[in-house]
Amino acid sequence: MEEGVIKKLMASIKCGVCGQHYEVDNISVLGHRQDLWFLRAFCSACHTQCLMAAIVKESAEPVVITSDLTEAELDKFKNEGRLTADEMLDMHNFLRGFDGDFSRLFSRR
Ligand SMILES: [Zn+2]
Repeated sequence: MEEGVIKKLMASIKCGVCGQHYEVDNISVLGHRQDLWFLRAFCSACHTQCLMAAIVKESAEPVVITSDLTEAELDKFKNEGRLTADEMLDMHNFLRGFDGDFSRLFSRR
């Protein structure tokens, strides 16, 4: 999967703060493990920067796992590879029935 394609797909994601779509130019790809991609996006409307982990498959819409990663969490994901393929699949299946309100889901701590 090309980075340019990923960025285009991620431009369909809305900013969690103001609801504006991200612009392709404001999305950077940090790295990936198979279908799990790590991205940094900057909202041109409200100037919020966020780190995202997303599952991106060629045949499907990107699924954002979390859009409020901290740098430390990002490192953990990248270095430890905590998510196995099975876990990613579980997450994917779960998210298919999810209403899309990620900020609410992940603010439950
Ligand atoms: Zn915004």
